[in-house]
Amino acid sequence: MKIANKSVVSIHYTLKNDEGQILDTSEGREPLFYLHGYQNIISGLEEALTDKSAGDQISVSIPPEKAYGERIEEAVLQVNRDQFEGIDDIQVGMEVQTQGEQGIQLFTVSKIMGDTIFLDGNHPLAGETLHFDVSVQEVRPATEEELAHGHVHGPGGHHH
Ligand code: ZN
Repeated sequence: MKIANKSVVSIHYTLKNDEGQILDTSEGREPLFYLHGYQNIISGLEEALTDKSAGDQISVSIPPEKAYGERIEEAVLQVNRDQFEGIDDIQVGMEVQTQGEQGIQLFTVSKIMGDTIFLDGNHPLAGETLHFDVSVQEVRPATEEELAHGHVHGPGGHHH
């Protein structure tokens, strides 16, 4: 069966950046299960996997616009340390949630200068070209329930 919209797909993958560093890998873990055509994974990877079958291996480089987008400098905020009530130990790399008009937003502390904390609202992989090595493990049709929920059930999925 070839991968198409409404396929449940399991893959093993390794993700590297331009420098060849491994950013993420499923090696040593369960494969990643996703529902094809439902934006469970980045669009560039869905495109590359369309029409592939179990046993296929692909290597693909995905530009930011088909991955996590370009970096937006305006998404970096500067706030005073006072605003971190109840957090004594603020460190670069920490993730912080804020509740704003557009709901919950996730920031990463990117820099600390004295009492000024820089909060970066970009996805950590924004602006990066992503290099994936992927091997397709299994492909099966989604169930009605999976399609209604927009994600995979059963092994590797939601509602274990
Ligand atoms: Zn569900």
